[in-house]
Amino acid sequence: MTQSKGYALITGASSGIGATYADRLARQGYDLILVARNQHRLERLATQLNADTQRDIQVVVADLNLPADLARIEQILHDDSRISLLVNNAGIGATAPLLDSDADKMEAMILLNVLALTRLAKAAATNFVAQGRGTLINIGSIVAVAPKLLNGVYGGTKAFVQAFSESLEHELSDKGVRVQVVLPGATATEFWDVAGLPVSNLPETMVMTAQNLVDAALAGLAQGEKVTIPSLPDSLDWDAYETARLALGPNLSHRSPAPRYGV
Ligand code: NAP
Repeated sequence: MTQSKGYALITGASSGIGATYADRLARQGYDLILVARNQHRLERLATQLNADTQRDIQVVVADLNLPADLARIEQILHDDSRISLLVNNAGIGATAPLLDSDADKMEAMILLNVLALTRLAKAAATNFVAQGRGTLINIGSIVAVAPKLLNGVYGGTKAFVQAFSESLEHELSDKGVRVQVVLPGATATEFWDVAGLPVSNLPETMVMTAQNLVDAALAGLAQGEKVTIPSLPDSLDWDAYETARLALGPNLSHRSPAPRYGV
């Protein structure tokens, strides 16, 4: 067995993209801490990955929408210096328009996709900066840049993940900590069932497997990408988008309103 690369804590590891990160990271030599609500699924995955890779695979059952559970995971991320990687992946989506959506479900989505992700990132970042090393992977979505595609609250949560990740990358890069935000397109997981539109309703040509998605995202990480869009054929398109955004910079804050407002 190769020497451990440290522990990776993965939220939402019981299925889909998170479970695939667990598989790939164990095979890369990480020991794992798997977090989600479904204990049976987590334990089954842990047993299988331990048998396949001989890595230490721990299971921590937590509902990240419950403050006490969230605090428990924050504590682990803050205190355990063996952790060198956080995959902030747990998230839920929605496909219905806002007016057809339940406000309590929207709130639960914001709490998981935004609040829990933020608190866990802060806890891990504090730990990683103290160690002078560490990697934070936040799972966003392409709806961050295409907010009209699905439910607007979901798009808003993922726009938060992207903006927050880019800011965090800026804040932490000179402290030895890497931050990558991954923007998956449609990926064949249970996400779509939870979101109210089974993935079989989407054209096959736009749906990636979780395996390809995670392999591409990890390749992007190895290549030093800060923003990874696994589907995007030409990374120059993203660079052009960024260049256009940055060009706004000098004009985003002036003493006077723009002349077209006639103020
Ligand atoms: P998934 O298979 O439904 O996985 C979601 C994971 O989050 C599960 O492990 C689930 O486990 C966990 N989870 C849900 N609520 C939780 C809670 N309250 N506390 C703790 N864990 C919770 O879907 P996925 O596609 O892999 O989604 C992973 C991430 O990818 C999400 O952030 C999603 O927004 C993002 N994403 C997905 C797609 C896509 O097309 N699939 C596209 C773009 C972005 P338990 O039920 O066991 O708690």
